[in-house]
Amino acid sequence: MKTHGHFLNGVEVAGTSGRFGEVFNPATGEVQSKVAFASKAEMRLAVEHAKKAFREWSAINPQRRARVMFNFKALVEKNMDELAAMLSAEHGKVLADSRGDVQRGLEVIEFACGIPHLQKGEYTEGAGPGIDIYSMRQPLGVVAGITPFNFPAMIPMWMFGVAIACGNCFINKPSEKDPSVPMRLAELMMEAGAPAGVLQVVNGDKEAVDAILDDPDIQAVSFVGSSAIAQYVYSRGTANGKRVQAMGGAKNHAIIMPDADLDQVTNELIGAGYGSAGERCMAISVAVPVGQKTADALVAKLKPRVESLRVGIPTDPEADYGPVVTAAHREKVKAYIDQGVAEGAKLLVDGRNFKLQGYENGYYMGGSLFDHVTPEMKTYQDEIFGPVLQIARAEDFDSALALPTNHQYGNGVAIFTRDGDAAREFASRVQVGMVGINVPIPVPLAYHTFGGWKRSAFGDVNQHGPEGVRFYTRVKTVTARWPKGGVRENASFVIPTMK
Ligand code: NAD
Repeated sequence: MKTHGHFLNGVEVAGTSGRFGEVFNPATGEVQSKVAFASKAEMRLAVEHAKKAFREWSAINPQRRARVMFNFKALVEKNMDELAAMLSAEHGKVLADSRGDVQRGLEVIEFACGIPHLQKGEYTEGAGPGIDIYSMRQPLGVVAGITPFNFPAMIPMWMFGVAIACGNCFINKPSEKDPSVPMRLAELMMEAGAPAGVLQVVNGDKEAVDAILDDPDIQAVSFVGSSAIAQYVYSRGTANGKRVQAMGGAKNHAIIMPDADLDQVTNELIGAGYGSAGERCMAISVAVPVGQKTADALVAKLKPRVESLRVGIPTDPEADYGPVVTAAHREKVKAYIDQGVAEGAKLLVDGRNFKLQGYENGYYMGGSLFDHVTPEMKTYQDEIFGPVLQIARAEDFDSALALPTNHQYGNGVAIFTRDGDAAREFASRVQVGMVGINVPIPVPLAYHTFGGWKRSAFGDVNQHGPEGVRFYTRVKTVTARWPKGGVRENASFVIPTMK
């Protein structure tokens, strides 16, 4: 059985801590490999390699760094099928969705290919007599990213694509549930021409994360995962003087106005609610029909569609979605469904007892649909992260708007309507970071930035796009004077001002 080590200084090395985790195949329930859990000393070794690599990498001109990104993009495209198969085997999402995971990451690499333009500074000629001011964006040094299981290609690329293009050296601590793709991406980055130590992967659990948060030579930490851990990473990292962006969990609402095209809405809710078994931070998990008539009509359309969802192995081209990631996660989702019933929500479709014939040990779940979910229910307040859609009925526009606005999470939200004025007012007033208007999963493209509000993100700077460049660089401003003819000035004891 394969044991994943760490990718240090350009090569995969075996772990030395003696601690390991098991990597499951969610389609069959079998252990398919083991993964080393790093010690603090192993993380330290990665930091030393990265510090050494930083001297060379940060001095390389931006066009040459961009060329490495172009090469990397071509290599990932060439290896797309292999990466998607690897991803599906550990995560459980269907192959087409795994390709999408890789592709959304690649779009950030495409953005990072523009780094010579993105990292340009500013210049003011003649800010005073013989004085020019210029600013430059310099890389931070060694930076790290701690990534979740649900997008093992896209999220590491969100982070290291921008970080490395800016001239930093990046250490990825991927999810212990699906480490293969991040390891392979690091190999491809070396093949693309990045020097050893520019991108490293250190596998592990809390010990590796704490080693990142406490290491004095790691300047910045990006995190994506659940909110409790995001808050912990943010608090401990910033207490240690680091720059931290930490994205957390979500509960994304879709508001359905009475004038919406319900056939289209049903299609959108089915895809965005159950795609990837609901294990997306931008999945729609709550549908909010406005008015009883809309709600009844929506339920009539949704229920048969949820009942006929096709759950299958990740390589089944006909499957809508595959298994959830682990047995423990399936139990957690089932427990939420039990709780929803106990809290008094109406379970219209029950996916708890679904079994896939021939794969009885895999972690499959049928789609579940709840109606009459209300804000005081724990199952409404929490993120479930499974193939479960909840319907929370609203009387009118204002009470619909209040639901996502008052929720603890504020990642994404969508409104379906033909009324431009209602959509505009909704987008303006809702307290959520990413808004879709007739778009169910409003994940901004790579050249915009991604980030939620409230408990969906800790820190002020979003992922990728121009904010990503700002996160991974710091500004230095130079004020330079070249006086004519060697004129000397007397000492001045007042603050210089521009007259
Ligand atoms: P998770 O929080 O369990 O793990 C994320 C990372 O933190 C992993 O690398 C893991 O090893 C590490 N970790 C886990 N427990 C830790 C601990 N006690 N101390 C230190 N580190 C620890 O999240 P997950 O289950 O891998 O991913 C799913 C979650 O991520 C969901 O909540 C989802 O909404 C969220 N997510 C958010 C976004 C976003 O951009 N907002 C994107 C994707 C996923």
